[in-house]
Amino acid sequence: MKIIDHMAADDYEQLVICQDRESGLRAIIAIHDTTLGPALGGTRMWPYQSEKEAFRDVLRLSRGMTYKNALAGLSLGGGKAVIIGDPARGKGEGLLRAYGRYLEALNGRYITAEDVGTCQRDMDLIREETRYVVGVSPAKGGSGDPSPFTALGVLFGLRAAVKKVFGSEDLSGRHVVVQGVGNVGYHLCRLLAGAGARLTVTDVNNKALQRTAAEFNTVIAPPEEIFGIECDIFAPCALGAVINDRTINRLRCRIVAGSANNVLAEARHGDLLHQNGIMYIPDYAINAGGVINVADELAGYDQQRVEKKVAGIYDTVEQILLIADQENIPPYQAADRLAEARIKGFRLVAPGEGGSQVG
Ligand code: NAD
Repeated sequence: MKIIDHMAADDYEQLVICQDRESGLRAIIAIHDTTLGPALGGTRMWPYQSEKEAFRDVLRLSRGMTYKNALAGLSLGGGKAVIIGDPARGKGEGLLRAYGRYLEALNGRYITAEDVGTCQRDMDLIREETRYVVGVSPAKGGSGDPSPFTALGVLFGLRAAVKKVFGSEDLSGRHVVVQGVGNVGYHLCRLLAGAGARLTVTDVNNKALQRTAAEFNTVIAPPEEIFGIECDIFAPCALGAVINDRTINRLRCRIVAGSANNVLAEARHGDLLHQNGIMYIPDYAINAGGVINVADELAGYDQQRVEKKVAGIYDTVEQILLIADQENIPPYQAADRLAEARIKGFRLVAPGEGGSQVG
């Protein structure tokens, strides 16, 4: 892999390779773009089978964060880090502290948070070595569980989508199928039930399923049947790549929008949804409530400010759908254009939003 050529092709700013023999730390930090501010993105710990795989992942994910943070209206760029190793075995204090010292040396160009394989406890430990970390525990100024805010953002995004498709943002009587009622799915069901929506839910975890069904009076469907249910909205809140060759022609909905990351197995599935007359709201636009919540720690966490910013997801989705209409392109492409326009300084996103600073 010709790393510098690859970096140049997609405008990556910096790659930092970290090694600490004593603790066994092997990590890569990728800073994709800091035009809008310091790069923010989580640290993933994963037992990558090869260095190549780790490089690929960190590069791909850091670029994704540039787009996500830009669309969220944050004054933050995109970055990501991977620690090569099995979190179940090799996550010692020495390793996390050594990693924290690398972050400190970057002097705020990259700010980390938790991701797959890392948790709030790890962020607390990293915080001992550097202030360039968010997602720490509330006792240390942290923002707590992001899931309710992610769900709130999805609700606002759904309202904008429903307005476009049905002419009114009212969700009462709308039939929403929610795939996965874990942290985000549960809170989304709570909000949707409050808005008067009709819910069908599924999960492979029976306990989570029964709890949601009992609390919000939902219909339960088996996981494998979820795609073919006739509904207004299909809300994937479990896994990635659920819109794929096997599922796409089974969908009987008007809108696909949920919290899950990387919902489309491949970009071409976004084109196919568009051709089939199904509106797909890009995951990274609608599930930004979590990053908005965690980023707020940088300015001294304030829940009311977070809720206000999360409500902005409605406007973002509206703008994406407008660009999609004007340019006659699928929304997933329109979202990229909107993010790129913000980064390039076009005033398509209202000025004055975001404003998070390292401090
Ligand atoms: P979670 O693990 O708490 O919930 C996921 C749920 O999906 C679990 O209950 C699980 O049993 C269920 N599930 C797994 N496989 C399934 C299947 N085949 N069919 C049906 N259900 C299945 O995770 P979460 O924190 O709620 O996140 C959900 C999704 O949203 C993930 O893709 C995550 O990356 C994304 N996301 C979460 C946040 C957040 O704030 N938590 C923010 C942005 C994006």
